Amino acid sequence: MTKQETRLGGRARRSAAWIAAFALAGALGLAALSGIGVRPAHAQTIQTSNVTVTSKDPTSITFGIRVNSPGGLKSARLEYQVRNPDGSVGGGGNVDVTTGAEQDLSFTLTTRDAQRYIPVGSRFTYHWLLVSTGGGSTQTNDEQYLFLDGRYQWRSQTDGPVTVYWYGTNDVSATAALQASKSSLQDTGALLNTNVPYDIRVVVWRSEDEGKLAMRQQSASFDAQIQTGGQRVAPDILFVFDNVPDVVRHETGHIVTHVAGDGPFVGLPSWLDEGTAVYMQKSPGGYEPAVRAAVQSNRTLSLRSMQTSPTRPEDVNLFYGQSWSTVKFLVDEFGQPKFAQLFTTIKGGARIDDALQTTYGFNQEGLYNAWRAKNGLQPVPTSGPSTNGTAIAEGTRAPLGVPTSSSGGATSSQPGGSTPAPSSGDTSAAGKDSDGGSNATTAILVLAVTVALAVALGGGGFYLMRKRRA
Ligand SMILES: [Zn+2]
Repeated sequence: MTKQETRLGGRARRSAAWIAAFALAGALGLAALSGIGVRPAHAQTIQTSNVTVTSKDPTSITFGIRVNSPGGLKSARLEYQVRNPDGSVGGGGNVDVTTGAEQDLSFTLTTRDAQRYIPVGSRFTYHWLLVSTGGGSTQTNDEQYLFLDGRYQWRSQTDGPVTVYWYGTNDVSATAALQASKSSLQDTGALLNTNVPYDIRVVVWRSEDEGKLAMRQQSASFDAQIQTGGQRVAPDILFVFDNVPDVVRHETGHIVTHVAGDGPFVGLPSWLDEGTAVYMQKSPGGYEPAVRAAVQSNRTLSLRSMQTSPTRPEDVNLFYGQSWSTVKFLVDEFGQPKFAQLFTTIKGGARIDDALQTTYGFNQEGLYNAWRAKNGLQPVPTSGPSTNGTAIAEGTRAPLGVPTSSSGGATSSQPGGSTPAPSSGDTSAAGKDSDGGSNATTAILVLAVTVALAVALGGGGFYLMRKRRA
């Protein structure tokens, strides 16, 4: 229950290497070294200072350093690693150097383009490799950097495994997001018998507009019709644009489903992942009427068609509603232990049809028809022993969304997994590709749902206050 609040500066600490060098200089009585630009004691010594990291916005990070080296440098290289619970990703790049004794170097890493998406909230470890013209070389100490959206003044609050980052004056809703995330971690963990073995970070923007530059890019036409409430952008990072507790609960649910069910080769089908996330909301909100209407008109989606998220904005509400309803059916009819076992089985490498068969004795057609029967619908014919369940590749998890207009027709295919890639051609990967975006789960709430939620929460609260005063 420990809570701590921190103000976050935009600049990294001064290089520990320089501090160490400075201390040594002091011990030797070389007071003159304290001034920047003074020649170092030994001709081959490379001195560093002014180690900085800045980010003006979510699209890039600039690493800087001042180097003093008699005769200049032969080469300089910035190397970084983005820490990720699924495997950190490394990269780096060379920087132009001169033969001047003192030079300021900088390396700019683009973080959101066609090749690479490193989300805000990522934690970096980095150092510089410097080689002098005389052949001497040095590697600066590893430094840590937390990448935040430089357009805003961020604050943070930590409670247990969750840290929330926010800006602006709404401390109360930041605390609410923290608590919603914590309780969803516990509740989803209990549902799936899973403990998330790492801390998570929740980054809250004041609106989708203010956070748009940080979002993983998607097609403009889809984007135009879908309101994004939140996104899971890495195994341990959530974005929240519409800060209501159910958006946070939903997204935190995705943190847990990933740990519980995504294996190295087989991931969760979207209906199971999204259905569980909606199930973890306090209320399915606007998704429920969508599935109810589809049941009434016998226009439900075949479960087998729901392996990946919908690409048509007009399908989004039904997709999430039916996913939620299917998950609720599994839990209500067969119990929590079996539901948790289903995730464990998928994590172990079984495809969804096999995992269902092992756990429940039916495949996706069987589940779909059982769910239809529960809802008073006739079974649909199954096409024989079809068990060629589609394994869902990482990266296909799609937005949770609701159409904001009924203009229809506009479809979007989610951009494929763009991996955090080298910045300048000569990068090295350390560990496997990160989940930082490539299987990011995007949660989108339709504008209508968002408005409905806001009205329900705000209006309800206001009403209760009035009653109490009366
Ligand atoms: Zn979702």
